[in-house]
Amino acid sequence: MTRTLTTISALAAFALVSCDASGRKSTAMDVSPQKPTEPTGKVIKNDDEWRQLLSAEQYHILREAGTERPNGRAYKEFKQQGAGSYHCAGCNALLFSSKEKFDSDCGWPSFYDPAKAENVDIREDISLGMTRVEVLCARCGGHLGHVFEGEGFNTPTDKRYCINGGGLRFVPDEAKP
Ligand SMILES: [Zn+2]
Repeated sequence: MTRTLTTISALAAFALVSCDASGRKSTAMDVSPQKPTEPTGKVIKNDDEWRQLLSAEQYHILREAGTERPNGRAYKEFKQQGAGSYHCAGCNALLFSSKEKFDSDCGWPSFYDPAKAENVDIREDISLGMTRVEVLCARCGGHLGHVFEGEGFNTPTDKRYCINGGGLRFVPDEAKP
């Protein structure tokens, strides 16, 4: 019974997210077949413009500091992805790459360092009764996730950039220029 219900809800979830109204989004994490043009300065848009540009999930993560559920579809996709780079789904700024990706098993995409440090900002976040360090896109101010330090991961930095996959755009290395 439980298994049947799980299967049904998994199928329902898949049906809901596999194709949005515009039919352009088939993955939880955006994937670009072409290398995107990166912003050269700050990207400033009003709320209406962000709502038009982003999917509901992207808007929730990037503009409302939302958190996707752990072990969700974007994370499963992330684990399957090969070499490539991870850009901001809001403004295309390069943020992370598969070189800094590691498996922390925490349920969200993890990196030990940004690929382009100038595109990644951090600030203290005291929401939800915790003191954490929020990670943001330095170009458009989009919320990406949080960074944790000193957890004992065997990586060059011992930092875990715990990032919402739904706010990223994956660009495989073989993407066309
Ligand atoms: Zn951005």
